[in-house]
Amino acid sequence: MSEKLLLRFEDVSTDLSDIDNYVSDGGYETARAALRDRSPGEIVEAVKDSGLRGRGGAGFPTGLKWTFVPKGTGKPVYLLCNADESEPGTFKDRQILEHDPHQLIESMIISAYAIGCIDAYIYIRGEFSTGYETLCRAVADAYAKGFLGKGIFGGDTEVNIHVHRGAGAYICGEETGLIESIEGKRAHPRNKPPFPAVYGVFGCPTIVNNVETLSCVKHIIERGADWFKSIGPESGPGPKLYGVSGHVKKPGVFELPMGTSLRELIEVHAGGLRDGRKLKAVIPGGSSVPVLRADEIDINMDFDSVAKAGSMLGSAGVIVMDDSTDMVAVLRRISHFYHHESCGQCTPCREGTGWLEKILARIEEGHGTPADLEKLDSVAKSMMGTTVCVLSDAAAMPVRSFLDKFRDEFTAAVSGASGRGGESARAVA
Ligand code: SF4
Repeated sequence: MSEKLLLRFEDVSTDLSDIDNYVSDGGYETARAALRDRSPGEIVEAVKDSGLRGRGGAGFPTGLKWTFVPKGTGKPVYLLCNADESEPGTFKDRQILEHDPHQLIESMIISAYAIGCIDAYIYIRGEFSTGYETLCRAVADAYAKGFLGKGIFGGDTEVNIHVHRGAGAYICGEETGLIESIEGKRAHPRNKPPFPAVYGVFGCPTIVNNVETLSCVKHIIERGADWFKSIGPESGPGPKLYGVSGHVKKPGVFELPMGTSLRELIEVHAGGLRDGRKLKAVIPGGSSVPVLRADEIDINMDFDSVAKAGSMLGSAGVIVMDDSTDMVAVLRRISHFYHHESCGQCTPCREGTGWLEKILARIEEGHGTPADLEKLDSVAKSMMGTTVCVLSDAAAMPVRSFLDKFRDEFTAAVSGASGRGGESARAVA
């Protein structure tokens, strides 16, 4: 797969965020033809048949999710695009939002038509100021051309897109937190069931899909489900955006077939490690997923293969750490993030994230004891599967995996062997 689709903007000489350039490049023709020649049901079937799975983290089959929308309720159906991308180490959707927003808009027109939605929303992360401005301009230009609004492409379909800017909270990326936020409330995740497909935004059937997931729809409809299925593993095929950050020579976002090996991603596409350094650890799917050791990177980066290796593909935000990395400091930093971002509704998450951070601060500053390692493990265990949303698990999983994979480093940190806890550390503590 040498041709880029999701990152097509990298291969063309014109600015695809400009609607005239996008149209000259063949843009909006797929949506025009889909609305003219295909029924909504045919589009749902094509997406189902393609095997597209959500690119936001959970990997749920997209077409199947669309079929959960109940028929004949008399209520409007909403499509929400989750552009809140806030998992540390993840920066792939931003590429589409900033450089090729019409690809997303065209895909959303097709998707909205398929599920019977008139009003769709793009919920964009508050900090994405460039992406927000680019997206707002793109949506306005699409209205001006008659690609959005009533009677689009001269037919009788109506699709509107509303851009909603978040205020910078991680929890807004959780689908029910996002729904609450669009309704104008604090982004407190909801208990499920009922699931959003049945009872979502404004109490109506709602489909929430990620930017990259939705962007795949246009290509599936244009090239067919069989083409999509021919890329990568049968259990979750298609082109995939991988973001690589950390101690590599060429960090960036790479469009590759789903299932590309993690070693190839790091050593070839991201240029390998900095000179003179050895690999120590890799987080394969954003900071919340279990860490892998250097000897565990000969795996394919697809949903099932990464799960088999004991981690998760998640957002495919790959964080690379070389042998200069202090794993205690990294885990403390990750724990600080989840403590800061907990919405506070559930006791295990609200209290647990704070305890994890406090214990890790103590260990990093040289005041930890061997009992602290047991405490960390027991707090993390008690935070999993006991809360309204998965932020609590997201905070606990890195702790358990770091302790498991890099136990020696944590043991050294609490035994004084690592030289922590000098005068400056005591002053901070
Ligand atoms: Fe809020 Fe944490 Fe509970 Fe999620 S798990 S609802 S973030 S307190």
